[in-house]
Amino acid sequence: MTRIWNFSAGPAALPEEVLRQAQEEMLDWQGAGCSVMEMSHRGKEFMSILAQAEADLRELMGIPEQYKVLFLQGGATQQFAQIPMNLLAGRSADYIVTGSWSKKAVKEAQRIGNVRVAATTEDSGFTRLPTAEEIKLDPFAAYLHVCTNETIHGVEIPAERIADTGVPLVADMSSHILSRPVNVEKFGLIYAGAQKNIGPSGVTLVIVHRDLLGMAPLNIPTVMDYAVMAENGSMLNTPPTFGIYIAGLVFQWLKKQGGLTGIDTVNAEKARILYECIDNSGGFYTNPVDPDCRSRMNVPFVLADVALDAPFLAAAKDAGVLGLKGHKSVGGMRASIYNAVSLDAVKALVGFMNDFAKRNG
Ligand code: PMP
Repeated sequence: MTRIWNFSAGPAALPEEVLRQAQEEMLDWQGAGCSVMEMSHRGKEFMSILAQAEADLRELMGIPEQYKVLFLQGGATQQFAQIPMNLLAGRSADYIVTGSWSKKAVKEAQRIGNVRVAATTEDSGFTRLPTAEEIKLDPFAAYLHVCTNETIHGVEIPAERIADTGVPLVADMSSHILSRPVNVEKFGLIYAGAQKNIGPSGVTLVIVHRDLLGMAPLNIPTVMDYAVMAENGSMLNTPPTFGIYIAGLVFQWLKKQGGLTGIDTVNAEKARILYECIDNSGGFYTNPVDPDCRSRMNVPFVLADVALDAPFLAAAKDAGVLGLKGHKSVGGMRASIYNAVSLDAVKALVGFMNDFAKRNG
């Protein structure tokens, strides 16, 4: 068996240790005589898996008691609609647009109610953050929505740029959650699809302050109502049990890496060597994003000669390096270096890129 060096944007690499444990427990989870997929979600075995996953996540992120942790379905895309359904309450919400995903969030929210774009960096091709002067906030907004890591454009909002604006802050953290310490208390609601840093697709994590519960109008579907989901411990209906189990194993793996502080150090080094390779390539590779907001998880880059794109991808494949093709909307390349992508994997990528540039430059 040979495992690839996997730079896929998502679904993405999972820690090998986690996959091995899941494999070991596949036929018989800890003496239950069946796999996690085959047991009742209301039985004591699965209840213990869910409780442990939540406890480990709370410990990792330092989630205070006044926040509810929900394990939902529908992906981050469902949250684009579910957030305004629950939080707008007849008012308007502000959105800061720094890439394709926050732009999609606006479009979806507009189907539900009144939404304002408080700032957008689209004129730059989404390569920078808006300046403080460019952000026009509505002090009466129901909430302010940001995407703290734009997966396609590779723009990340550094923690120190998250300021208190006086309205609840809602953040799409799909592609960098758990990659660094975060002060949960700055946020009213944090959400993330699982398939990058948490586990398999099909689980969507929502961390929501209890003050934001119970604002939804009565006519929304019950599964879409955060308050109902919170009251039912994410179990109004059958939750994505196997995904939650794998997420729980990932949380335990992260604790062994020294938690978010530990993984932060590794992630910083991974990003440093990859951007250094790009910036020192004499223009063979370029990344267009302002250095103060370059993502540490998603590193888009282009080759100066587009005719080399196909040979680059073919040579990468031969070297066992996969998942580098950029998103169809922007082209070029992208290396996603999530938590489960090791420093060794990034070193292998950098080695390949340097070698390819030398042979073709
Ligand atoms: N937001 C961000 C930042 C994403 O990267 C993605 C998926 N790549 C989404 C939202 C949509 O997620 P999903 O496919 O889980 O609906």
